[in-house]
Amino acid sequence: MPLTVRYDIMHDFGKYNKEVQEYFSRLSGNSLMYLEYQIKKGDIAIRDDRPKSALFSGAGRLLRMTEQYMFYLYTKFKKEPQKFEYILKTIEAKVPVIAMLEDRNCDPGHTYYFGERRVEKKLNNLPLALINPNLYASRTLSAESRTRLYVAHELGHVINEAWMQDANKYANYLYSKGALTKQEAEMFVYGFSMLDEAITQERGEEFAYSYTRSLRPRLVSTTDSKGMYPDHTFETNFDWYGELQTPAILFARTLRGIGKIRVDRNALNELANRALSPTFAKDVIAEYQHKDHAKDLVQLLKVMGIIRRASYARFGMDSQAWLKESGDALESVQSMAEELRDKESVEF
Ligand SMILES: [Zn+2]
Repeated sequence: MPLTVRYDIMHDFGKYNKEVQEYFSRLSGNSLMYLEYQIKKGDIAIRDDRPKSALFSGAGRLLRMTEQYMFYLYTKFKKEPQKFEYILKTIEAKVPVIAMLEDRNCDPGHTYYFGERRVEKKLNNLPLALINPNLYASRTLSAESRTRLYVAHELGHVINEAWMQDANKYANYLYSKGALTKQEAEMFVYGFSMLDEAITQERGEEFAYSYTRSLRPRLVSTTDSKGMYPDHTFETNFDWYGELQTPAILFARTLRGIGKIRVDRNALNELANRALSPTFAKDVIAEYQHKDHAKDLVQLLKVMGIIRRASYARFGMDSQAWLKESGDALESVQSMAEELRDKESVEF
């Protein structure tokens, strides 16, 4: 039975107040119950410098940031309430727990994740959104702001899940009719996954900086020290996943209405906004089909799939061999996406 833990929402969500309050009461009860479970299992240790009360306030902080993200989206979409309603329903249905990552996954000398989504098998496959409570500050963001960023990052994956499923279905369909091999179909889905990561990161950054006094930094040209894009530079202003930013921007400009946006950050921002729609993947596929470019979409996404896998290889979550291929992959995305850039301003 969920604990009766009082969590009072601090923002005014207008006509959604009751619904939002009910969700957060439930989320708070479940999340604090899950913290008890983590402590009991020894996944999160009570220490002299971190008594139980500090753990509970850490968990409370994640709840508060979740509310802040929901309020940010509520405000952002005041004129398009159907967007906020979709997001709220999705989060309510798919995020029953937001909790801290286990100590073993927050160890800078060993496994150090920012956040993760997974299901707890021992608790009836309870879906978890887990966040590292001990993030360090970066040059431009405080530790607190970075935590806020990665709360939004994980919630953003939840929002994107509907269209990721469509991408999967489409890949399976192409595989079943023999148009793609199993491996090609997988790489196609990885390509959409590259967009998923870049898009959720973009939204998280926008949100995190909206809570600071500073503006988002400019995109700067950089190289990677972990083997991504050997001998290539790329542009980024991301806290993490910077290597995905350029290919995401290039892809964005193949779409009607975004192709004409000259400023890189605006193009990416528009892509991230479109991807709040559950039909995003279907819309992309339909647009490419309409332009008679369906095969090009497959080629482009397969190459973006290489980039996504190389990006995970950077932190040891995929084979290091992908890193070597990433430079050529970036060049291919550059030439293909430039070819496919949409220069029309008319809507379909
Ligand atoms: Zn992610």
